[in-house]
This record gives sequence, structure tokens and C-alpha cells, in this order.
Amino acid sequence: MHNPGHRFQAQDRFADGAQYIAGRLARGTSGRTHAVVDPATGDEVLGYELAGAEDVDAAVAAARGAFPGWAAATPGERSDAMHRFAAELADHAEEFAQAESLQCGKPIKLTREFDVPGTIDNTAFFAGAARHLQGQSAGEYSGDHTSYVRREPIGVVGSIAPWNYPLQMAAWKILPAIAAGNTVVLKPAELTPLTSLLFAEAATRAGIPDGVVNIVTGAGRDAGEHLVGHPDVAMTSFTGSTAVGRRVAEIATSTVKRLHLELGGKAPFVVFDDADLEAAVHGAVAGSLINTGQDCTAATRAYVQRPLYEEFVARTADLMATVRLGDPFAPDTDLGPLISFAQRDRVAGFVERARSYARVVTGGEVPKGLEHGAYYRPTLVADAAQDSEIVQSELFGPVLVVLPFDSDDEGIALANDTPYGLAASAWSRDVYRANRATREIQAGCVWVNDHIPIISEMPHGGYKASGFGKDMSAYSFEEYTQIKHVMFDNTAVARKDWHRTIFGDR
Ligand code: NAD
Repeated sequence: MHNPGHRFQAQDRFADGAQYIAGRLARGTSGRTHAVVDPATGDEVLGYELAGAEDVDAAVAAARGAFPGWAAATPGERSDAMHRFAAELADHAEEFAQAESLQCGKPIKLTREFDVPGTIDNTAFFAGAARHLQGQSAGEYSGDHTSYVRREPIGVVGSIAPWNYPLQMAAWKILPAIAAGNTVVLKPAELTPLTSLLFAEAATRAGIPDGVVNIVTGAGRDAGEHLVGHPDVAMTSFTGSTAVGRRVAEIATSTVKRLHLELGGKAPFVVFDDADLEAAVHGAVAGSLINTGQDCTAATRAYVQRPLYEEFVARTADLMATVRLGDPFAPDTDLGPLISFAQRDRVAGFVERARSYARVVTGGEVPKGLEHGAYYRPTLVADAAQDSEIVQSELFGPVLVVLPFDSDDEGIALANDTPYGLAASAWSRDVYRANRATREIQAGCVWVNDHIPIISEMPHGGYKASGFGKDMSAYSFEEYTQIKHVMFDNTAVARKDWHRTIFGDR
């Protein structure tokens, strides 16, 4: 079925291939091809040649070649180029929104209002931050020396990104790395290369030198693993599932690389009995359905204190049923399809199995009339046991599980009772209660009376099996720089006091 709403012609745009190496598009040489599919229709959007090991080698060589010049550019020069980069993105905002909606099935209002402006803002933030790389101040700490700290780029960064927010993930990986003077080879997910390629082209148009930003679009097992293990790659930055993150960590560790891991999540949404129920219900529906639930911070487990539980379940189910599914390019569509039919079937499988031990309150089916796309109805599952798979596993779909709790202690303990720790929210009008939840919930972000917003100035990253390292914010420079201690002797004497430990009194 043809989707008439979009104007982005991927086959024409990427006729020269879906690799971006040393400032130009190229075809992959693995001998294998892949299709980008519009999940709203099942139509092929782009057929392209996948990258293999030789393409990764070429991209790494380009990044290595570009590194000395880019690392030596002044912070002001890098900042200027990145300001022009932000302007390029703004000039092409609609093209980015169209391409992102096409390859992901995201509603166009989401890409226009969130993915694309967020990416432009991130680029502008890192353009400014490039001039504010902080090091510890210089001083005479030993008395006989002047010490200072240099914060230096690491080298070639090999980055791997998932399919759920392809443009934002490319931005989160590339921007702090290049702002700090590194060069990058990014491997997007095979399903969603379009906006990473557009992003790299915009960098070139902005005057960022060839080789600073390279894209290799290949399969995880070969191009991905080859990039992680590559001897000329100094750092691996990975965003994706915890299972693949473990494999990436093994390879990166065995080749002694700096490692940054942003992994899965299973965010709790804890509603205390004094919460504003109207706000909590709206927050739960929006927070669980954003990006069709394919968001690592999405609300997935609502814990609701017993007095509010039944009303929360009923009102959340009613509100979920009002969300409009449809053509991602229609301006009034609230929810698009999942990324693929395989992902839709995986999510449906979790819900089908849950029927034997829990209550499917609403949803749990493919919507009538939308069978041509990977659509799934917003789904609320109640009364599952805490140790059941639907409560413990990351589904990555439009499914919210809701469970009751009695005491505040119990609510917080249940919130912490999964291997993940990426994000969480607490809903209460009592400042002491909410504050306690922010202290005791183990997650890299805890919202109070909201769930989902992110902002360029603040860090994003996990606790526990959700990984380590921070994206966005000045904290991400900790990831993409290395610290050098420089120590100058101030005494100018040949025989220094501490030499006694070697020479005795001679
Ligand atoms: P995934 O782990 O399957 O794939 C992520 C990337 O890794 C893809 O580019 C894939 O090609 C590549 N890959 C796969 N196998 C590989 C291997 N053996 N070696 C190297 N690379 C390999 O994840 P996905 O399904 O694309 O994305 C969904 C996952 O991403 C979810 O678990 C979600 O929580 C997570 N995610 C986390 C964050 C965060 O900030 N923590 C953000 C977005 C998504």
C-alpha cells in the first residue's frame, strides 16, 4: 500500500549509496543488500548495499586522517563550524522530519516538534560547549611544581546507534565527540540510516572537514563488531539493548577501549495516594505511548498506591482508547506503527502470554483497518505479578503495566526491582515524599510529576544494567575526552630532594 503523505524520495537522494565516508556518499561493498521499509505501509523506501569490513576500514582511515587537524582546531573554530551545522539543520528541518517519519513510522508532529528541533538545539548547545571544556585549575600542589590538567580528545570514536530515535541518537553520539576534537565513525541501525546520512551531509555543508563525521551502514554482527574491535578506534560508544551491549563490551574490553554504554530501560512510574490523578493519568498515557512506546525511558511499569489504583486503571484505559492511530504523515495522527512487523509481533507475543496471568484492560490487538502497517493498539495490562516477564522485560512497544502498592517503602522497592535503572518518575503533591523517591529510586533520571522531557543542558544515562556514561550536557565531555596531568618542575635544581630515595646521600 502506497503512503501518499511523504515527499522524501530516499531512492533518489541516496542513489550513490548509504555509506558516508570522507565527505561523500558511497556504496557498501559487503556484497549484501538491505531494505529500508516504511513500517506504516510495508513498502520498500530504499534498497542499499550494506557496509562490510572494508568499508569500516575506509571510514576509520578517513576519521584517523582527519583527527590531527580537527583536534588541533581551536575551540572557537570547532564552535563556529558547529554553529553553521546547527543552521544547516534548521534550513533542512522539514526534510529531516519527513525522512525520520518515513523510516520509523513516527507521527510527523512528533518529528517536527521533538526529534528535529531537539537535534538542532543539541547541535547549538555543543557548539557553545566546545568553548567551555573544563579542566581542574593549575596550581603548585607539591610546592616544587606547577601542575595543570589538559582535557584532550581521545581519537577515532566508533559509535553504534539503535533505530528508535535515529536522528537524535546520531546527534547524541556525534556532537559531544566532535565538539571535544574527536572524529567519528557511526554505525546506525540497518533499518534506519536515512537521517544519519542527512546529518553527516549537513556537517560537510557546514564546513566540518571531510572525515570528521563518517557513517557506515552495515549489520551489527559484521560491520558493528568490526568497528568495535578495530585497532585504530580508540573508543566505543554504544546505544542499544543490554544484550548487544554485553557483546560490545566484551569486544571493546578485549581491545582495551574507552567504553560508553547506553542500554535498555524499564522505567517505573510511581503514583502516591496524594498525587493529582488527572495529571498522573495523562502523564502515564503520554509517557508510555511516546514514539509508540519505543523509547528507552518510556513509562512501562505504573505502581499506584492502593486508594487510587482502580480509578487510575479505569481512567488510563479510557484515555488510551482515545489515542488516534493512523498515517504518520496525517497531522492529526497521535500514534504511528512500530518500527517493523517483527517488533510488532514480538510485543504482541508478550501481551498474549500475559493473558494467562494478568488482565488486559484495553488494547492487546492489531487495529482493524491498519493491518497493512506494523500497528498495535495502546495496551494496558493490570494485575501482573512483579516477577512476571511483562513486568521485568523491556518490550519496546505501546504497553503499560499497572500494579498496586500499599506503603511508600513498598512502592519504591518495587520501582527498583528490575535489572534496569535508566529513568523513573514519582507522582505526589507532598514534597517530602517526592524528594525521598528521587533519592531512593536507582535511575539516571527521576522526574517529579512528569515523565519524558529531556533537555540539552542535562545529562541522560543509566544506572545498573541500563549502562554507564552520559549523553547530552557538559557531562558527556567526561566520556569523550581524556585527562592529562602536566607537571612542571619549578626548582631548576639537578639533584632534587626526592632523588634521595635512589641515591641516598650521594
Ligand atoms: P540493538 O541492541 O538490537 O541494536 C543497536 C545497534 O547495535 C544497531 O545498530 C545494531 O545493528 C547494532 N548491533 C547489533 N548486534 C551487534 C553486535 N554484535 N556488535 C555490534 N553492534 C551490533 O537495539 P535496537 O533494537 O536497535 O534498539 C532498541 C534498544 O536500544 C532498546 O533496548 C533501548 O532501550 C535501547 N536504547 C537505549 C537508549 C539509552 O539512551 N539508554 C536510547 C535508545 C535506545
